[in-house]
Amino acid sequence: MIEEIERDARSVLTPDAPPEGEPHRIDRIELARVGFVALAAAAVGFRVWEPFAAFSAIGVAALAIGGYPIFKEAFENLLERRMTMELSMTIALLAALAIGQAFTALVITAFVLAAEILEHVTVARGRAAIGDLLRYLPRTARLRRDAAVVDVDVDVERLSAGDFVLVDPGALVPVDGVVISGHSFVDEARITGESMPAEKSAQSQVYAGTINQRGALEIRVERIGRETSFGRIIDAVESAEKSRAPIERLADRLAGYLVYFALGAAVLTFAITRNVVATISVIIVAGACGVAAGTPLAVLGAIGRAARAGAVVKGGRYLEALSATDTVVFDKTGTVTFGEPTVRSVEAVPGVSKEALLGMAAVAEARSEHPLGRAIVAFARSHGIATAEPETFEYRPGRGVRVVSRGVAIVVGSETSFAERGLTLPALARPGDDVTAVYVGDDARVLGAIHVADAVRPEAARSMTRLHQMGIRTIMLTGDVRPVAAGVARAVGIDEVEAELLPEQKSAYVARLVASGKIVAMVGDGVNDAPALVAATVGVAMGSGTDVARESADVVLLGNDLSRFVETVEIARRARAIIMQNVAGTIAVDAIGIGLAAFGLLNPLLAAFVHVFSELAFILNSTRMLAPTRR
Ligand code: ADP
Ligand code: MG
Repeated sequence: MIEEIERDARSVLTPDAPPEGEPHRIDRIELARVGFVALAAAAVGFRVWEPFAAFSAIGVAALAIGGYPIFKEAFENLLERRMTMELSMTIALLAALAIGQAFTALVITAFVLAAEILEHVTVARGRAAIGDLLRYLPRTARLRRDAAVVDVDVDVERLSAGDFVLVDPGALVPVDGVVISGHSFVDEARITGESMPAEKSAQSQVYAGTINQRGALEIRVERIGRETSFGRIIDAVESAEKSRAPIERLADRLAGYLVYFALGAAVLTFAITRNVVATISVIIVAGACGVAAGTPLAVLGAIGRAARAGAVVKGGRYLEALSATDTVVFDKTGTVTFGEPTVRSVEAVPGVSKEALLGMAAVAEARSEHPLGRAIVAFARSHGIATAEPETFEYRPGRGVRVVSRGVAIVVGSETSFAERGLTLPALARPGDDVTAVYVGDDARVLGAIHVADAVRPEAARSMTRLHQMGIRTIMLTGDVRPVAAGVARAVGIDEVEAELLPEQKSAYVARLVASGKIVAMVGDGVNDAPALVAATVGVAMGSGTDVARESADVVLLGNDLSRFVETVEIARRARAIIMQNVAGTIAVDAIGIGLAAFGLLNPLLAAFVHVFSELAFILNSTRMLAPTRR
């Protein structure tokens, strides 16, 4: 019974294909069984037909038919030598029958069967709520062929990158792609959590699973199915289904212990009181489905909810780790700041023109995906400085780049990277304390600096406050120089800062925190953050982050909004709280119930009532995690 409900709770992504048969017919048979058992109980209660003095004929027959699912599973468990609730329940029912309490046995059976149906329905509803996600991915798309005059509907699977598809007003976007023509607003809440529809025109990025509003759009396909942002959410929910969170294993074990505990208490009760009825009550009162089925439901519900809030959690255990996180480490560039810096000033040593310096830097950064590099290239272009492809390109994460162009080396990077090579920095003017100096030179000299400033994300300060309110310590790690780092940390209210760190130092710092017993979430975006993301208990990548960062991370934000991360932490904590309530509640109900039953204060019927309704209450408690977030 537990396993079945649990399996239901876990197979959220196959709502149309339950493991056996048609769900409705099974439900109807189960309902008929409950009705039959209830009728039989009434017949036994009113002594309708009692041909034998020794036992109730209707009682025995009805129990055999009605309790069949329970007995069958108990027998299977017995063969597997596993102690389960079905087995203990069978013992109790047979004992009740043996002492002539056929009525009691039938009513308990009806109760248990009815509760099972209710639990199935509850879990199935929860499952549907998560499985809902899948429905937001259209199966067909309208393909535009340049030759054909008519557009044809094709299976999304048959599309490939570079195809053109049309999206009607009000339709779901079928793929990730770029708008070629048209103008519209698109509701992206499902992907980014952003409630304001985003304006889309030529060149805008659109995402599968989002809802086109008034305009028609023609888009060029970039990614389909599993490769889309939305596909990644589905992957996350699926992998969460497959891997069990440690807390789920704990819940299973607890459920197992409770059965043993109840049986032990029953043996003790019988040994001391010789009261069969009290002993039966002791066995019947203890229920554990509440934790066993409620826990995966809460975990999956939370992952589904986090996905809607804009964070893909790659498994239950990361959700669990997030719920216990006490330290959050942030990268600076691209994480706490936008990562869209702008050039403030260019300073060159005497004898070198600013244009020449900028030209060198732009050549060096031509292939760079680092925000600073992109800023320099953009600035150079906007000043009409042509960039050329270098012959060799070497990116040194956290330090800078070195290229060879027309046989000449160009080095662009941090103060540290030049200091590491024993070069001294020239005295250059700085436009302010909040700018990062990117030095430009070659293997022997520093020829100047480009000063770049990046804006802090508007939601960063508020996010830190929320983390602090949860008692979480915040730390910022950056490869940038101390004054800039300190300025950013102060602006957003981060507790501690470590500056001028190389990527390996970042990960060593995180590893030290983890080793000291902290549960650390590391939030980053860059290639230079990847080792630290792996070293952390939970690695979190920004949506705009590099592929390496997103691969290394356990949680990927779909947008770049830090408050989505904070929300995910809150969701994880809520799930944990619900699971803990269920665990504590189950232990309390079972312990008190067993105590009352042992002292003869709970008759078997009342015991069954307590068992069934407490379980149901805890499963319902878990479904609170499923309520979709409406914003
Ligand atoms: P953060 O830790 O803040 O994300 P990084 O570790 O990526 O920053 O970079 C640290 C420093 O190294 C930067 O402040 C910059 O001075 C230098 N740097 C890194 N990559 C580049 C690059 N592509 N071009 C120039 N400088 C770079
Ligand atoms: Mg970064």
